[in-house]
Amino acid sequence: MKTDQVLLRGRILSFTAEPQGPEDHAAYRYIEDGAILIAGGIIRGTGSYDQLARQAPSVPVVDHRPHLLMPGFIDTHIHFPQVQVIASWGAQLLDWLNSYTFPEETRFAEPAHAEAMADWFMTQLCAHGTTSAVAYASVHEISAEAFFSAAARRDMRMITGKVMMDRNAPEALRDTPQSGYDATKRLISHWHGKGRASYAITPRFAITSSPEQMEMAGALTAEHPECYVQTHLSENRDEIAYTLSLYPEAPDYLGVYERYGLLGPKALLGHSIHLEPREIDLLAETNAKPVFCPTSNLFLGSGLFDDAGLRGRGITNAIATDVGAGTSYSMLQTLNEAYKVLQLQGQKLHPLRAFHWITRGNAVALGLEDKIGTLEPGTEADIVVLDSAASEPMALRMQRAETLSEELFVLQMLGDDRAVAETYVAGTPQKIGARAAQQPALQPA
Ligand SMILES: [Zn+2]
Repeated sequence: MKTDQVLLRGRILSFTAEPQGPEDHAAYRYIEDGAILIAGGIIRGTGSYDQLARQAPSVPVVDHRPHLLMPGFIDTHIHFPQVQVIASWGAQLLDWLNSYTFPEETRFAEPAHAEAMADWFMTQLCAHGTTSAVAYASVHEISAEAFFSAAARRDMRMITGKVMMDRNAPEALRDTPQSGYDATKRLISHWHGKGRASYAITPRFAITSSPEQMEMAGALTAEHPECYVQTHLSENRDEIAYTLSLYPEAPDYLGVYERYGLLGPKALLGHSIHLEPREIDLLAETNAKPVFCPTSNLFLGSGLFDDAGLRGRGITNAIATDVGAGTSYSMLQTLNEAYKVLQLQGQKLHPLRAFHWITRGNAVALGLEDKIGTLEPGTEADIVVLDSAASEPMALRMQRAETLSEELFVLQMLGDDRAVAETYVAGTPQKIGARAAQQPALQPA
């Protein structure tokens, strides 16, 4: 248990509810000269600097003024074996998987490669201000082991699962219904609930799992209601047609997951773009969570996520990068593209709702808002320090910004890893530059 105490000073922003509009000032707390008291990796107090400094006079102060302190960002859908295929040219979903992703994922059978990439992945997340993620590992059990180990070394709250896929993929990337079940069982018993780790049962999607494997995924879900379930849904028209040809008895794509008992509040459904009315009813009924991945949806030309339509049905949408089809690790850049995807549909993403979404909103979608996503006392001290004038275009724009919402919108549209001045994980600064320097320098292959 960490006992180090520290008081972080800066401008504090944390949400207590989802903002219902641009003027919903009751949904957040903003303190101009604020502070966060941290001890043992936990937030012990959030308030004005004067008050906390009086309360804890001997605690060392780290002065981050004039920067903004917010809860660390949460990414709810990302593929860690794809760090070396991000930005691969010229295909839509199924071609992209076959041409780039599957060949790359075969390399994760090698433990040393999986370990090195897991470490680089955590470095990238911290550099971009993301302190928690829900990630897909590769089919190899060792890849999930490497991921959980790398996360545990940094004490990061992370969720992952070994992908289950037993067909329509290269031989080297296929498990079997039984081996996928057994490996998942072992990983759950090694990692779920250990430190800050949680497990996600991960059938990649209906195309790469046989009905027998789906049955096993359903059995795992029933045996482990404490675990998450993650998969992909209705990203691309060809994918949907192929899925329905493989499961001709299913009423629609989501009906496949319904039939095998995968749906519930802990189910995360990446993309969820081209949905039938029955599928939307089913999402509302089961409280499963669609995950909006804007940079990926634009990159692969998949389609436009109907955020307002789903929200209007009382569905809780999460938001994510989906690296490597997503084109940035940055949740700020994810908000930038989300804004544009919604603009094309006549929908709005106000900066207050945007910053709620990538912090408390995603925490709520994961049922973790008592642990992460806010700066409430008693929660885990994952904090991002944001510099709204990190680049010259941002600094020039900020000279004309007069309100908090204007500043947040500058971060939302122009921000990326340069705007992340520091990232704290369980109270420990990740010292972005220093941390990267500890890793061997990257060489061209
Ligand atoms: Zn994905």
